[in-house]
Amino acid sequence: MPELPEVETVRIQLRHKLSGKTISAVEVFHSKTVAFDETIEDKLIGETVSDIDRVGKLMIFTFLDKSDLFLLAHLKMTGQFFFVDDNDVSGGGHSMTEADVRDLPNKHTRVAFYFTDGSALYFNDMRLFGYVKLATAAEVEKARAGFGPEPIDAHFDVAWFTQKLRARKTAVKAALLDQKFIAGLGNIYVDEALWRAGVRPTRRADRVTKKEAGYLAAAAGEVMNESIAVGGTTFQHFVDTGGENGNFTDYLKVFGQQGKPCPRCGEIIKKIRCAGRGTHYCPGCQK
Ligand SMILES: [Zn+2]
Repeated sequence: MPELPEVETVRIQLRHKLSGKTISAVEVFHSKTVAFDETIEDKLIGETVSDIDRVGKLMIFTFLDKSDLFLLAHLKMTGQFFFVDDNDVSGGGHSMTEADVRDLPNKHTRVAFYFTDGSALYFNDMRLFGYVKLATAAEVEKARAGFGPEPIDAHFDVAWFTQKLRARKTAVKAALLDQKFIAGLGNIYVDEALWRAGVRPTRRADRVTKKEAGYLAAAAGEVMNESIAVGGTTFQHFVDTGGENGNFTDYLKVFGQQGKPCPRCGEIIKKIRCAGRGTHYCPGCQK
């Protein structure tokens, strides 16, 4: 499943490619993907993409001179976006193979957007949990309300985070996974951030010291930013690379590393269940 850094990578690349392009046609291959909205084509034809924003893993397309028309896109388990310009195909999202980009639109294409300059954007989704649907300003506001601030936000308030974290009585891992509290950290990135900060996932949040909370905020931001930097290569240029896939999983220190020695202290990394999720930590250096 694409985690937030992969979604952010897709957003940055798509925004770069699509801003200023005007939609000439929309083709819906599977109506569930557009929430069975039969008006989507009529409403989008002639509209120009102005930007792509994001809240959590939800991408929000905005349109030029339109204050009440948005397109929300969520990749969920298996969603992928492919952008085609002449013979040049690039794309990102769920990990992909050469077959995914062959003969677009193909059997996994759910929606296609065609632009007046001849380029096209395809949304492929094998499992059909993802969506690309129209929304009003009120609906976008409602979606935004479900997410706390992100550790990668330049304005992330560490003092606020420290106070709120230490007011919680759940395991610190559960607190960090709560998207309404802070957004953007999935299971992998929470384990990595806790390892970097030297805090055990099972520790109660109200027993995390102020100093440790500061380390955690910094570690969470670092893990996400590094993964976005690496994630740049998950948005692939198929003509050039033939589907080579760079991945942050090559850089993980504890996640999936159970049974291996900790890169910091040499203790053997353990896997347990915490906050209902498979959880990895080092019993030697995470207190
Ligand atoms: Zn260790």
